[in-house]
Amino acid sequence: MVSRVIPVDSFDLVIFGGTGDLARRKILPGLFRRFRAGQMSAESRIIGAARSEMDADGYRAFVREAVAEFDPDSEGDAEHLERFLARLDYVTLDAKGEEGWTDLAGLLRAGVVRAFYFSVGPALFGALAERLHAHEIASPDCRIVVEKPFGRDLESARALNRTLAQHFEETQIYRIDHYLGKETVQNLMAIRFGNMLFEPLWNSQYVDHIQITVAEEVGVGGRGEYYDRSGAMRDMLQNHMMQLLCLIAMEPPAKFAPDPVRDEKLKVIRALDPVAREDVVRGQYEGTRDQNSYRIEVGNRDSLTESFVAIRARISNWRWAGTPFYLRTGKRLRDRASEIAVVFKDAPHSIFGAKAGHHRNILTIKLQPNEGIELGVTIKEPGPGGMRLVDVPLDMTFADALGPEEADFPDAYERLIMDVIRGNQTLFMRGDEVEAAWGWVDPIIADWTEAGEAPLPYATGSSGPDDALMLMHRDGRRWREIRA
Ligand code: NAD
Repeated sequence: MVSRVIPVDSFDLVIFGGTGDLARRKILPGLFRRFRAGQMSAESRIIGAARSEMDADGYRAFVREAVAEFDPDSEGDAEHLERFLARLDYVTLDAKGEEGWTDLAGLLRAGVVRAFYFSVGPALFGALAERLHAHEIASPDCRIVVEKPFGRDLESARALNRTLAQHFEETQIYRIDHYLGKETVQNLMAIRFGNMLFEPLWNSQYVDHIQITVAEEVGVGGRGEYYDRSGAMRDMLQNHMMQLLCLIAMEPPAKFAPDPVRDEKLKVIRALDPVAREDVVRGQYEGTRDQNSYRIEVGNRDSLTESFVAIRARISNWRWAGTPFYLRTGKRLRDRASEIAVVFKDAPHSIFGAKAGHHRNILTIKLQPNEGIELGVTIKEPGPGGMRLVDVPLDMTFADALGPEEADFPDAYERLIMDVIRGNQTLFMRGDEVEAAWGWVDPIIADWTEAGEAPLPYATGSSGPDDALMLMHRDGRRWREIRA
């Protein structure tokens, strides 16, 4: 198979916060990889804009280091790197002041796609939007990209949407959830809607339950102070995991296009039942001899913030009534492993008798560390000894199935930035979707805040608090092992 890269139109991309952590680790190395792949036209330009005093050469040196650190494959590709660095520029500006804006206006060209990446805290979104208009930098078809967190509750998300709507049309606003840019997440839609095989079984008649796990091995580390203000529910579940839930549960959109897809996702969120207190488990990790506890990492004080949350969710519609969705996410768990598992029901009758054991089909969509899809099927164990059954995976790990070249797909950020340039919003969240997600999450948070309960302790390297295991045990089900 030959890899096909379709170049995007020529663009000017301004990265506000271009010297920040996200720009350094993800955005800039990602753009370089797209340049190297031939997707970025030779005239396109990237302009860093931040408070730090530096000139264009200083910024090029900064980006050179970022690429070397976060895209080690770039070593030995000096020719591409030099050409990429020549496409960079830099403006010192303060989002809240007037300095630098005229310089920025002077750098931008007419007749190319104009995009502004707001890689700064949300408190600055309003100021940036205002100045982009005041200085006549925002063209009618320009795009803005905004980062998470998009609010910390329904009220703040609404306020943020209102602020952006004062200056931009919804079709110009790209709210990033990088999970939607993952290859496997898009493949989930291909598997569901590109095959006849799965969709007829994709409902409560055949699916026993669905598990979504986003497990991290690391703790909050140096981000303790920031994290402690959000917690697992706000940081992971309200956005990334709810997006995965939507894609798994939604009805087939009439078209793979922005509004049809987002309309269907929104319907899923609106069909979610309120969550009862006994269907939520929160946890906080303890330390080990070598690793600090959550409590120590957030400044050696008691905190009621959760580093782990598990929820049993229900969707009240024809397709899913009766099929629970179990979601869990946490830090300092056994392994770094994210997956969605669709667990099918037992066959109605076993012709092989009780000795053949208990077998089930499970479709696993693995998101990290290795992206791929696996379907567990039951076969006869080869050899003599009668009809002994065994479960084997039909493995569709992309690197194996497609060959290493095809499997060298763009990272989520790269893909999404290219979608911004192409003007394709399908993999970005619409304002009403984000608000609906907060509308479901807010009462859950309000409930535990009101109760004032501390999260349950769990051991570093475990699968979370025992109560999370009980959440499934009491339904006669089990979490899958957290394993990379
Ligand atoms: P950071 O603190 O490392 O960088 C912030 C950037 O904003 C710097 O370039 C700084 O110069 C610039 N800045 C700050 N105040 C400014 C002002 N008044 N005017 C102009 N520029 C100003 O932050 P970060 O980690 O890069 O995060 C940026 C955004 O991305 C945040 O909204 C964050 O929540 C989000 N985000 C970050 C990550 C990550 O991995 N770092 C992941 C997801 C989302």
